[in-house]
Amino acid sequence: MDLPIALGVLMASGQVPYRDGLRVLGTLDLKSAVSWVDPDRPAPPASLGLFIYPAQAPWRAPDGSWAPVSNLAQALEVVRSGRPVQGVSLPEVRRAKFVWPKLLLSPQAITALGLAAAGRHPTFLYGPPGVGKTEFARAVHTLREAVEPNVPFVEPPASLSPIQLVGANGAFWAAGSGVLFLDELGEMPTRTLECLRKPMEALWGREPTLSPMVLGATNPCPCGFLGHAEVKCGCTQSRIARYQERFSAPFLDRFQLAVALRYSEDSIEVPWEELVFKIRHAVEQQRSRGPWHGNAAIPLESLQGADLTRDALETLQNWHKKSGLGLRALHHAIRVARTSADWNHRSRVTSHDAWLAVSFHPSQFRTTSTSDPWGPEHSWSKAMGLRSPGPR
Ligand SMILES: [Zn+2]
Repeated sequence: MDLPIALGVLMASGQVPYRDGLRVLGTLDLKSAVSWVDPDRPAPPASLGLFIYPAQAPWRAPDGSWAPVSNLAQALEVVRSGRPVQGVSLPEVRRAKFVWPKLLLSPQAITALGLAAAGRHPTFLYGPPGVGKTEFARAVHTLREAVEPNVPFVEPPASLSPIQLVGANGAFWAAGSGVLFLDELGEMPTRTLECLRKPMEALWGREPTLSPMVLGATNPCPCGFLGHAEVKCGCTQSRIARYQERFSAPFLDRFQLAVALRYSEDSIEVPWEELVFKIRHAVEQQRSRGPWHGNAAIPLESLQGADLTRDALETLQNWHKKSGLGLRALHHAIRVARTSADWNHRSRVTSHDAWLAVSFHPSQFRTTSTSDPWGPEHSWSKAMGLRSPGPR
């Protein structure tokens, strides 16, 4: 923005004294008033030090180091004195305050929540009973509403027939371009599950179609406690294998993200306002790339436009080669990596984005699988928490 540039030029040319550790945000108009163009931007962390920002911003200073200003003259006064100027008129903050639901998730799950909602990626959730699978699905819907107001959220019962699910008046189509949440997938007849394959695939077909973002949720095993930190799973290996085999490889292949939800000591409250802000920007970038409904729907012939760096492509190709998975797995990973790049305001997809896409790939669901692409020392369940190079 140009207030920081103006102050930088004035300091560098000696017209005002140089001040270290100053942070500035704002846009100048031709009459040197400081204006504010980004009404939804969340407030930055309180510990920034001396911080000059437009008085119109709907934030209130946490302490004496925040300096709201209305024009360039006031900003210069702050630079000279090192203190906020008195008597700046602050407009009343009148925006109705929406109360966000309080939701605790692990940092990994929050990352997945953001990616899923930003790219509309079909997502497979698994974890013990009561861990918050339904809350996660509702959170995705809440975030989608920030970019598509009033989209439906449909949650049919697990007992529904194939016709009730994907027939002409079925739940799938009732969800429109909203969210279809299928809870207790493990209780659904296999025939019903398999019926989902075709309509889900239409999402990334050549013709843009109106189809919902599908979120499926299941327990990891019949008793529900496989992988739980404290409760011991009472299922035999063969029962677990039989349960997980209900989800055929082609069925899992329709999902682009898988999220292991679990009770976690490092859970934090979902930072809603920050997520909404980032999703709006990510969706804008997606729309500038093509007419598809989210990165989840980038058609095969347009995947080249995802703009991968050489490193990112190598990361994905190496993973794909070792995984033994079909080409569709690679294509989905590219779609998700593209969303990760949009999320982080990167024009090109980096190897970090590629890594993130791979770590959330649905093939991780089969915990009993021997074809672990990273080898046994890096099992998928470990990969969820430990192999991240960290946000950049
Ligand atoms: Zn179990």
